[in-house]
Amino acid sequence: MSRSVLVTGGNRGIGLATARALAAEGNKVAVTYRTGEPPSGLFGVRCDVTDPAQVKAAVEEVAIQQGPVEILVSNAGITRDQVLIGMPEEDFRDVMETNFQAAVTVTREVVPAMIKARWGRLIYMSSINSMSGAPGQTNYASAKAAMIGFARSLAIEVGRRNITVNVVAPGMIETDMVQDVTDARRQAALARTALARTGTPEEVAAAVRRAAERGLRVKAVGTGHSFTAAAATDGLLIQPERLAGIHRIDRAAGTVTVGAGTPLKQLNAALAGEGLSLTNMGDIMEQTVSGAVGTGTHGTGRESGSLAAQIAALELVTADGSVLACSAQENPEVFAAARIGLGALGVITSLTFTVEPVFLLTAREEPMSFDRVTSSFDELWADNEHFEFYWFPHTGNCNTKRNNRSAGPPRPLGRAGAWFEDEFLSNGVFEVANRLGRVAPAAIPAIARVSSRALSSRTYTDIPYKVFTSPRRVRFVEMEYALPREAVVEALRELRSMVDRSHLRVSFPVEVRTAPADDIPLSTASGRDSAYIAVHMYKGTPYQAYFTAAERIFTAYGGRPHWGKVHTRDAEYLEGVYPRFGEFRDLRNRLDPERRFRNDYVRRVLGE
Ligand SMILES: Cc1cc2nc3c(=O)[nH]c(=O)nc-3n(C[C@H](O)[C@H](O)[C@H](O)COP(=O)(O)OP(=O)(O)OC[C@H]3O[C@@H](n4cnc5c(N)ncnc54)[C@H](O)[C@@H]3O)c2cc1C
Repeated sequence: MSRSVLVTGGNRGIGLATARALAAEGNKVAVTYRTGEPPSGLFGVRCDVTDPAQVKAAVEEVAIQQGPVEILVSNAGITRDQVLIGMPEEDFRDVMETNFQAAVTVTREVVPAMIKARWGRLIYMSSINSMSGAPGQTNYASAKAAMIGFARSLAIEVGRRNITVNVVAPGMIETDMVQDVTDARRQAALARTALARTGTPEEVAAAVRRAAERGLRVKAVGTGHSFTAAAATDGLLIQPERLAGIHRIDRAAGTVTVGAGTPLKQLNAALAGEGLSLTNMGDIMEQTVSGAVGTGTHGTGRESGSLAAQIAALELVTADGSVLACSAQENPEVFAAARIGLGALGVITSLTFTVEPVFLLTAREEPMSFDRVTSSFDELWADNEHFEFYWFPHTGNCNTKRNNRSAGPPRPLGRAGAWFEDEFLSNGVFEVANRLGRVAPAAIPAIARVSSRALSSRTYTDIPYKVFTSPRRVRFVEMEYALPREAVVEALRELRSMVDRSHLRVSFPVEVRTAPADDIPLSTASGRDSAYIAVHMYKGTPYQAYFTAAERIFTAYGGRPHWGKVHTRDAEYLEGVYPRFGEFRDLRNRLDPERRFRNDYVRRVLGE
């Protein structure tokens, strides 16, 4: 019998796996999700479960779509791990609110219909730590333990109405939620699991073969930081987190080989510990190495390109279950294409990056007028190894950042200065400004003028990852296009006049970066010197009108969308802007004739 199911937090991890399993059994399954895109094939309802009004609306929407909820899987949860004495009060409260209080709120909304129908199933996702406890998780373990008391009491209250209440308490499951778990804790947790070791490429190959026997499609996923459904699948989802860690450092060759599931932050820290560094990187380092390279993640650079452009070799499990070693010498045509492959050619199990002795970068951040940046863009680009800037819509103000190698000495941002600029201004005040803008869009231009002027110049010198990356806690949706570098100023001016002419209210700055031409078929910088324009919208704010208008401007210049960010392009368009598109397609036909690694997104952007 097909039931109406609601899974909260059902767009990733355990929630998504549960939702898919229930859907596979023929149920009508809806999932709530807070950010990103809903998983394909399931009815997604955007909902912040900590907001009772949104929960009420979501439950009503599900009832209209598929009938009143009969089975609730309350799974939404977050972690904010920290020992109690160092834990900010709000981190405790946020975890209690999302993991426990929200479960109560959702339950209140769904139970009346269950009572009326005299049938219902309430399932709560707790954790083994609710019973065993875990250091750094006083908040999480409390919330998960509260869930057990809640469920036991509720079971007595509603049991005679034929409503059952159950709690599931899983151990450590490899989802993006355990990304922040330290190595020591991961090792301790692994020691408590039956398979106390990391994974191997052969295990991945065996999983791909088993999926093929059962006719399932396969998709590898990183941390799910893409804004597109690049990693979604209705088949087997492979999370290679057990393929994580540094495998080998070859100082003579200047390379490091890492497991595909290694988070960039782990790679950066480990390299720094060895006196080594990547040459260039993007704005954050939460992603896995394989997920980041898979969509062409990049920073800004005059000579140095994306993460994928820094790869010297990779290991790929293909559709027939073979493990291919790929480099410029071995399987060179696979190596060329698989560096940015959207997971469409197979599952990457390890990556070898070219690294160099760690060096110092001096960052100069300086506010500048829009007119000055755009009129001297070519010089700013030519004079700096890494130049980027942010323009604040509705204003003539920009903030520029120039990073150049330096002989030292190191002058890191003082803790207080970094906290004030990065945490307080860039995250705290910016979040408040965005929230204000969401409820009062008319105030956005004034807010933008004030906040863009609040930024001041600063100079600091540090090792690369501390200069390139910074925490981004304000949630947003993003679209980014690569244009021929010589077109970027004109396109940006058009974007500005489009915003000025429109009724749009944009509270997030527009980011402009560059990359040199590279030789990767599906790189956004493939064969042409490029500049990127990225538009953002604060989470929960309608973004379609802004992105559609911006996309129209970018595509008129032959723009290439970032594979991991929102866009509407399809294979027909993309074939026209990627000269080596056919080369990738031919390789895909050879390596994956049955389309084992296809999903809806890949079908749209690469074709059948
Ligand atoms: C706050 C924020 C900041 C960002 N900053 C930048 C930035 O500065 N520059 C930039 O370019 N992008 C940026 N991005 C985009 C982000 O880097 C990409 O979307 C990236 O792909 C996400 O990595 P992930 O590990 O989450 O991978 P996922 O999103 O999980 O997966 C991405 C793709 O990689 C594939 N994949 C993952 N693992 C494997 C594997 N083992 N084998 C084969 N394929 C695999 C997946 O199938 C999918 O197609 C940002 C995103 C966010 C949310």
